[in-house]
Amino acid sequence: MELWFSEYQSKNIKMSYKIKEVLHTEKTKYQNLAVLESEECGRMLILDDVVQLTMKDEFIYHEMIAHVPLVTHGSPERVLVIGGGDGGTLREILKHPVKEAHLVEIDEKVIEASKKFLPDLSVAFSDPRAKIFCEDGIAYIKRFKNYYDVIIVDSTDPVGPAVGLFRKEFYNDIFEALTEKGIFVAQTESPFYYADLLKEVYSSIADIFPYAAVYTAVVPTYPGALWTFTMGSKQIDPHNVEVPNICNFEAKYYTPSIHKSCFSIPAFVKDIISK
Ligand code: SAM
Repeated sequence: MELWFSEYQSKNIKMSYKIKEVLHTEKTKYQNLAVLESEECGRMLILDDVVQLTMKDEFIYHEMIAHVPLVTHGSPERVLVIGGGDGGTLREILKHPVKEAHLVEIDEKVIEASKKFLPDLSVAFSDPRAKIFCEDGIAYIKRFKNYYDVIIVDSTDPVGPAVGLFRKEFYNDIFEALTEKGIFVAQTESPFYYADLLKEVYSSIADIFPYAAVYTAVVPTYPGALWTFTMGSKQIDPHNVEVPNICNFEAKYYTPSIHKSCFSIPAFVKDIISK
């Protein structure tokens, strides 16, 4: 008998993966968690029936959410990830000469599952520069002023505990927690299926930060494949950054020319954020 996992891309579209083996399922305090071994995409982390990552293309999302803000900043020393309990974003951050990388994940079970089933991602947790906090990122960030050089919000979709991670009050707290040259990035979903959310988040960030910018990457396993990230910056104009010509860390998707071109967004995305 064949086993398939289907995920809603939108109310009327589903994407299905042929599954070799169900490695783990559990109901945590916050969500349903599953790790599946798929035929084509390797291991997959699923939260509340939504694919968080597959081993086949996780590098695209994690490289783009980490390297673009870190290279834009130029010399970040203290970096924070909110969410990101799989460790993929942390792994990419630690390729840079940062002094400290903190991660605040609400659900410790995501970290545990990653340590057990996703060693390529959870490798980051044992780096001496990494500090892990298991609590709500919304409450955590309120305790900091002028502290982090880069803050990355690597969240689930805006449901359950992640709803507040897409609110203006939270972005205000992030602004306060950033240092003078601070940069903030959040994953802001598909411009096809979450256009209203992208528009709202961009508008909040543009109200708070002197600079706001949207960039994109193509992540085949995410709904619509074209994915957006929204950046807020206190001092550096993300559209006018001297990106070093040579990439001095290992990457499979990110390159200096992709860094420059990813801010050239399609006309319909520009339209969403400029209305
Ligand atoms: N790359 C993924 C994506 O876009 O599908 C997101 C990956 S990561 C697994 C998202 C994490 O955010 C989850 O582990 C979830 O528990 C965490 N999360 C959700 N709300 C949170 C909150 N308020 N504070 C901290 N972490 C949160």
